[in-house]
Amino acid sequence: MKIGVYPGSFDPFTSGHMDVLVRASAIFDKLYAAVLINKSKQPFFSTEERICQIEAAVKAENLNNVEVSCFDGLLADYAKRIKASFIVRGLRAMTDFEYEIQIYAMNRKLAPEIETVYFMAKPEYSFLSSSMVKEVGYFGGSIEGLVPKANQNLIAERLLKR
Ligand code: ADP
Repeated sequence: MKIGVYPGSFDPFTSGHMDVLVRASAIFDKLYAAVLINKSKQPFFSTEERICQIEAAVKAENLNNVEVSCFDGLLADYAKRIKASFIVRGLRAMTDFEYEIQIYAMNRKLAPEIETVYFMAKPEYSFLSSSMVKEVGYFGGSIEGLVPKANQNLIAERLLKR
């Protein structure tokens, strides 16, 4: 069984993240969308909120082989624990590449048996980031299309009420 894990901050979960999740779920038998509990970085959305966002989007798209989870500590350890042989990441611009190659090198050292695979961002999402969604939402701009439809209103309201 081919098991993959797509880890991320997902703060919030965007349409770009969803695009990667949909494409990866077509390739793996089972795919974990794993929210990173990063104690050093204070996220805007709580772990529970981020999990709910992904679960709602996954349900709306009927991605039956996707399980939403969360983890703290090392991704390599978590991947081993859930028996994932693949780590899924997304790539937008060159700036992502520089960051991703560092993570790749470290994960490769910690878990050489786990392969990392990359999905190129869909062109229309290649400039979309969680911070952009937060920035637009804080000031009451429309986030339509930037996040999965199932979460749009909830995210917009939360950002306005910050
Ligand atoms: P992290 O803090 O782990 O980078 P993010 O939530 O920012 O968490 O991103 C998770 C993964 O999704 C990363 O590999 C990132 O490059 C990728 N990603 C982020 N936004 C997009 C997008 N618009 N299209 C494709 N991949 C994306």
